[in-house]
Amino acid sequence: MSNQYQKIIIGAGPAGLFTAIFAKRNGEKILLIEKNNSIGKKLAITGKGRCNITNNTDDLKTLVSSYKKNGKFLYHAFSEFSVEDTLKFFNEELGIKTKVERGNRVFPESDDAYEIIEKMYALVKDDILFNCDVQEILNEENHITGIKTNKGIFTADKYVIATGGKSYPLTGSNGDGYELAKSLGHKIIEPKPALVPMTTKEPWVKDLAGLGLKNIRMDIYQNGKKIFSKFGELLFTHTGISGPIVIDCAREIGDLLENAPVKVLIDLKPALTYPTLKERINKDLTEAKNKAIKNSLGELLPSSLIPVIIKLAKINPDEKASQLSKDSKNSLLHILKELTLNISEIGDWNNAIVTDGGVDIKEIDPNTMKSKIIENLYFAGEIIDVYGPTGGYNLQLCWSTGYLAGIS
Ligand SMILES: Cc1cc2nc3c(=O)[nH]c(=O)nc-3n(C[C@H](O)[C@H](O)[C@H](O)COP(=O)(O)OP(=O)(O)OC[C@H]3O[C@@H](n4cnc5c(N)ncnc54)[C@H](O)[C@@H]3O)c2cc1C
Repeated sequence: MSNQYQKIIIGAGPAGLFTAIFAKRNGEKILLIEKNNSIGKKLAITGKGRCNITNNTDDLKTLVSSYKKNGKFLYHAFSEFSVEDTLKFFNEELGIKTKVERGNRVFPESDDAYEIIEKMYALVKDDILFNCDVQEILNEENHITGIKTNKGIFTADKYVIATGGKSYPLTGSNGDGYELAKSLGHKIIEPKPALVPMTTKEPWVKDLAGLGLKNIRMDIYQNGKKIFSKFGELLFTHTGISGPIVIDCAREIGDLLENAPVKVLIDLKPALTYPTLKERINKDLTEAKNKAIKNSLGELLPSSLIPVIIKLAKINPDEKASQLSKDSKNSLLHILKELTLNISEIGDWNNAIVTDGGVDIKEIDPNTMKSKIIENLYFAGEIIDVYGPTGGYNLQLCWSTGYLAGIS
């Protein structure tokens, strides 16, 4: 490889790959630098190895408003390279068939992230330098003159930092990019782990590990006041709770926890009012007659939840259903409507799906992804201070910002 390039792209994750593919297509001589010995290490584990490529939202305003932070910054990137363009690229240019699942989540039909990685790799394989760690960016009067790596110095007309965030550091995204951007005078909004599971003080959650509950409501309380609610799917883990509605609000809960304790009240039956659920419990228990209570709630609850709920309600599991006292039925009712968990902490970098924070968007031109400080520098992907909920939104921002950085 000759040492003079038009564009050097640092990081071969989804954002860097798209930058490289579109810069090359634009006729530029590129060098894609990756410190790992393969591309897309994190991409390989997305969507539990199935890769949730994007979210099939065609309306631009709806798409932008779905982002959790700085969605408006992405407006131009999405109008230049939309969800439709993304699907067209994967379907027609890479020949990857896709399918849409619940919540408009788009996956490859093969359910295999490696299909995506291999097809993208084929487009840039001659332009990648592996095991190459960018250690310093050389800057003279707000103009990059080269990059220092463990494999020597490389120079180009333009440079793109696409080094990702700080989550799952073993995949290569360990926050290097923030230091590089900072050394060039960019402001970094403090990176914090986002889209993480939560640990609870209640040890009984471990008895439910692996249990997923759909269509439940979760109310978040602090100092006795309801702060917000979430509706959807929750998953119990060995140490607490996870699943879409939990990880999507984990960052907000992490911020609340800095001030005071946070409680989560889970309504297991949000479609039923208190009186309706009370009637339903009475009916089920009357019909169960002489059965023990532990064998009488199968119509109402998943089997692994029954012993936990009975214990929390302080009911003897062998008590006859039809003979349950009014107090016991009441405590059952309240636990089903307000299963309470005290959050002790939110997950860390090792289990964060994305980073909240990064290069300040005020210092990046949203039309081109060009730095407003360094004349020949661009950014793409998670390194920018923007992130979305689960559901394909985070990869979409990588494709669209990568595209812009590629053609700019
Ligand atoms: C478990 C998990 C599941 C996920 N699932 C989904 C999903 O299904 N859908 C979705 O939309 N999003 C998902 N995400 C989020 C998504 O993976 C990220 O938003 C995305 O990978 C960010 O892409 P990126 O290119 O900006 O950075 P990265 O993917 O982090 O890539 C950055 C690359 O830069 C390289 N690099 C870093 N520093 C240097 C350096 N100094 N020199 C050379 N190279 C360097 C790294 O090795 C890495 O390969 C998931 C994340 C995780 C952790």
